[in-house]
Amino acid sequence: MNHCTRRVLSQCLRRSARRRLNSRSQRWNSTFETREWSTPLARTLANVIKTTGPVPIAAFMRQVLTSPEGGYYTTKPGGGREVFGKKGDFVTSPEISQVFGELVGIWAIAEWMAQGGKKSGVQLMEIGPGKGTLMDDMLRTFRNFKPFTSSIEAIYLVEASPTLREIQKQLLCGDAVMNETDIGHQSTSKYFDVPVIWVEDIRLLPHEEDKTPFIFAHEFFDALPIHAFESVPPAPENQQKEQEIMTPTGPVKLDRPPKAANTPQWRELMVTLNPKAVDENIKDEPEFNLTLAKASTPSSLVIPEISERYRALKSKPGSTIEISPESRIYASDIACRIGGSSQPPRTTTKQNTSAPAPVAKRQPSGAALIMDYGTMSTIPINSLRGIQDHKTVPALSSPGLVDVSADVDFTSLAEAAIEASEGVEVHGPVEQGHFLQAMGIEARMQQLLSTVKDEEKRKILESGWQRLVERGGGGMGKLYKVLTIIPENGGRRRPVGFGGGVPI
Ligand code: SAH
Repeated sequence: MNHCTRRVLSQCLRRSARRRLNSRSQRWNSTFETREWSTPLARTLANVIKTTGPVPIAAFMRQVLTSPEGGYYTTKPGGGREVFGKKGDFVTSPEISQVFGELVGIWAIAEWMAQGGKKSGVQLMEIGPGKGTLMDDMLRTFRNFKPFTSSIEAIYLVEASPTLREIQKQLLCGDAVMNETDIGHQSTSKYFDVPVIWVEDIRLLPHEEDKTPFIFAHEFFDALPIHAFESVPPAPENQQKEQEIMTPTGPVKLDRPPKAANTPQWRELMVTLNPKAVDENIKDEPEFNLTLAKASTPSSLVIPEISERYRALKSKPGSTIEISPESRIYASDIACRIGGSSQPPRTTTKQNTSAPAPVAKRQPSGAALIMDYGTMSTIPINSLRGIQDHKTVPALSSPGLVDVSADVDFTSLAEAAIEASEGVEVHGPVEQGHFLQAMGIEARMQQLLSTVKDEEKRKILESGWQRLVERGGGGMGKLYKVLTIIPENGGRRRPVGFGGGVPI
């Protein structure tokens, strides 16, 4: 940018900021400070947007879910209401039936056996363990397989919520003490004498050479922040002069705009304040809205360029896409723990800045199981949703009281994993119903039912079983998918549940 353009631009910014601040302070003084916001976090977010301008969905999601000041996961469980179960906002598969965790545990043992049954160095990791039920059901199942349990050296739990960490500790460690450590917290499993270690982010866990990590994530990835973009056609010739750029105080018209793009461009969906609610104080109007940015944002210039899947859609105006860069970081990190990353990533894109630090691994080992709702192969669109009291509510309403999530893009996770590590391959996603059936849910349920005489309890077991595998009418068996990352073997061995048999 030459000196002259820079001067004009800064004058523009100053003029426009002054104009906006004047008009805003007049209007906002009337209602902004005095209005009753839906939650304290709504007020904080509104203040941020008022000061810096619209924010990406990802920034909003990050705050409403995990802000220490009123985030859904970070503060809600302590506030007298629950997140999971009948009394909470939603029910997850591990909470529906103990059989879910048992079968996931059996899957891990089958995969450990298929990889030769390492006698030591096994690490169990769960990301986003909720109440700890899945890990608890797995550990109970493992007790019957002594060679496996004696190979386990530690259990790692990645959890952002201090309140949920306490609940997990109570379930998995009972009365054992929990100490603070350099990276998080530590206690001891009540099942066998191994440490249980909590961290808030997977990147805090050391990448150790020659360990065998078994990594589980159930309904974790849907909680990771997304960005949403729409491809817009180039502005017609006669409008190109009015080109704007987005600044912290809002869009600013350039007196002398640079030459406008003559191809379609991505525009980001941003969270904005709704003037009808905020300025005019109209009752029942939502406080926050989604609005398409009028100009490129840093995210819209970089994020949709990370994959050919997105690039291919840019030239088709009207295309919409959702991307979760943080999910890709997690998938890369998981892949490197299993497959190592001493080699440069398979495809090196200029934008691939999320690649974890290299980790040498003599031989890939371990596995990951990612279970969530999302798309089989397409890029998710319009999937941002809010859940409260088992009902769908507007995703931007009552920040911190509503669970906000989005569909998981399984193909994006697979792509990030194989780009990050030459030592892994990915299978799936398969539908949860098919996975559980392949894992023998029917035989396990029949066995369990044969030990239960009480009619009421039998009904609960049977309806839980049906719920987990139901594939019709948006049932969990079809909606939820399972994807696995395992050591690379040229596609010769398919893991159990993904077309492979149980090793004998
Ligand atoms: N796996 C559990 C809970 C799913 S809810 C089940 O299926 O029942 C999502 C979980 O991930 C919660 O434990 C939540 O606190 C945690 N979580 C959400 N976002 C997180 C983040 N960014 N980092 C770490 N943990 C997170």
